[in-house]
Amino acid sequence: MRSTPLTRRDLLLQAAAMLGGCGLTARAIAGSCVAPDGADASLRESLHYVVSSPDAAQRCSACAFFSDPSGSCGKCSIFNSATDASGHCDSWAARS
Ligand code: SF4
Repeated sequence: MRSTPLTRRDLLLQAAAMLGGCGLTARAIAGSCVAPDGADASLRESLHYVVSSPDAAQRCSACAFFSDPSGSCGKCSIFNSATDASGHCDSWAARS
């Protein structure tokens, strides 16, 4: 138990630690292939992005907007960031 009162600096450090933890949690939910700053989170949500496509034939890896595959990630030109090759969203379009 802490015997001295919390300083403003202590509170700021604790708040920063809590926000950092929230970012990690959000990234874990979104998947491993996301924009480093999470800037695409609202677009992913609005397009109902999922890390694992319910239809194997409609994965990001087979989408016209997917490029630059590297490991389990690639680049989505809709999100303008990395996406999981196994993912899916409402904007999926077959490659021609
Ligand atoms: S637009 Fe295509 S590549 Fe981008 S997230 Fe949606 S399904 Fe995946």
